[in-house]
Amino acid sequence: MLQKKTVDDLQVKGKRVLVRCDFNVPLQDGVITDENRITAALPTIQKLIKEGAKVILCSHMGKPKGEPKPELSLAPVAKRLSELLGQDVVFAKDDTVVGENAKKAVAEMKDGDVVLLENTRYRKEETKNEENFSKELASLADVFVNDAFGSSHRAHCSTVGVTEFVEESAVGYLMEKEIAFLGNAVNNPVRPFVAILGGSKVSDKINVINNLLEKVDTLIIGGGMAYTFAVAKGGHVGESLLELDKVDYAREMIAKAEEKGVNLLLPVDTVVTKEFKNDTEFKTVPTGEIPDGWMGLDIGEKTRELFANAIKNAKTVVWNGPMGVFEFENFANGTKAVAEAMAAIDATTIIGGGDSAAAVNQLGYGSKMTHISTGGGASLEFLEGKELPGVAAVDDK
Ligand code: AMP
Repeated sequence: MLQKKTVDDLQVKGKRVLVRCDFNVPLQDGVITDENRITAALPTIQKLIKEGAKVILCSHMGKPKGEPKPELSLAPVAKRLSELLGQDVVFAKDDTVVGENAKKAVAEMKDGDVVLLENTRYRKEETKNEENFSKELASLADVFVNDAFGSSHRAHCSTVGVTEFVEESAVGYLMEKEIAFLGNAVNNPVRPFVAILGGSKVSDKINVINNLLEKVDTLIIGGGMAYTFAVAKGGHVGESLLELDKVDYAREMIAKAEEKGVNLLLPVDTVVTKEFKNDTEFKTVPTGEIPDGWMGLDIGEKTRELFANAIKNAKTVVWNGPMGVFEFENFANGTKAVAEAMAAIDATTIIGGGDSAAAVNQLGYGSKMTHISTGGGASLEFLEGKELPGVAAVDDK
């Protein structure tokens, strides 16, 4: 159970409520290409409007590195939010985020009005969690709500610092939902519990592997990170991705799985090619026998079957990271097979954000999953068993 205050614990009528959202959406020429993060933020915003709060929204977008970058302005988000909410969202266009426009817009708010501030990372203090910017943000509001799950693994002014200078703080509905699904899955799973890890690097997921081996019944490892495990088992991986300095670690994890009685599943065959591109010659070989000059870009057919069979019997599945270079159609079959297997079962299925979320949505399986996290990095830290700084900073109930 979440011990933090939530929006349901607040009395917000007539109060200025600053809500940290995660509006870090992909933009192409000023057009939002995926609005999932905006729609995910709506329940909290709508609740606060209904309760008669003055709703002040803030978020970062991309990495402007502490200075105004017009192409990373949140203006397109204000426009789309107005359409989705069916009411005007005033965009406070200030290069300093909390400048004259923001102060004026907030001063003129009536109960139920919505204002969106400019990209918080226009300020260099934001990512350093410096007090002056936290105080400026807090000066606009009485209450702070953190609904930015995807940003809460970072201690920044708008996720952590600001909580110290407001009367009261709480988490929003999206945050509550993310924590409930990911937290329950990892700490209180209905068994069998299967976790699937992929993506490029072992080094990004060291603590995740270590923590999950304490919790799961089966751990599946695919993607680029599997080759380091193949080498740890004495295999040859040709030109495939390999982190030589993590081979010992992989060996330790193989031993830990044995000791804990965890079924650790690694690829048994691999789709290999000579060139890193879609349109090229490819063939399937046993995983530990990749010839020199060839690299593995996907799991093979036998592995797809092996992984799908393990997923079939699961009651809880958590997945983070693609099984191959799914951006190339010829090497997307492993990722597709995992998505398909998860979509077909009657179980709690959770996608840990990032590339796997994009893959599942692209393949049209989004609605078949129990929960797709809005935060890649944040969900990984959650799987490491860490408390997110942006959650820890919020008032307890
Ligand atoms: P990550 O950011 O660590 O989750 O990794 C995602 C990336 O890993 C995707 O862009 C995939 O293309 C890449 N990837 C997955 N499998 C492989 C592989 N076998 N070789 C190279 N890259 C891979």
